[in-house]
Amino acid sequence: MRRVWIERREECLGEQACVVVCGEVFGIGEDGRVTIRGGWEGEVGEELESCIEEARKVCPVDIIRWQRV
Ligand code: SF4
Repeated sequence: MRRVWIERREECLGEQACVVVCGEVFGIGEDGRVTIRGGWEGEVGEELESCIEEARKVCPVDIIRWQRV
C-alpha cells in the first residue's frame, strides 16, 4: 500500500494539477482545496505509485507526500 497525505494543506492553490494527472487519488473539496479520496490522508494500492509521484512533481507548492506502508 501507499500512504498519501497533504502537508500544509492550507497552501493548496486548488488549480487541480494533481487531479489532472492522478484523478484516481486526488480531488477538490468543497473548500476549493485538494482532498484524497474524501479526506486529507489515505492509503491506496501500489499500482497508483507512479500516479501519485507524478502528482507530487507537478504540484506547484510541493505539499503532496507519500510513502510505502
Ligand atoms: S497540485 Fe498541489 S496546489 Fe494544485 S490542487 Fe493539487 S495539491 Fe493543491
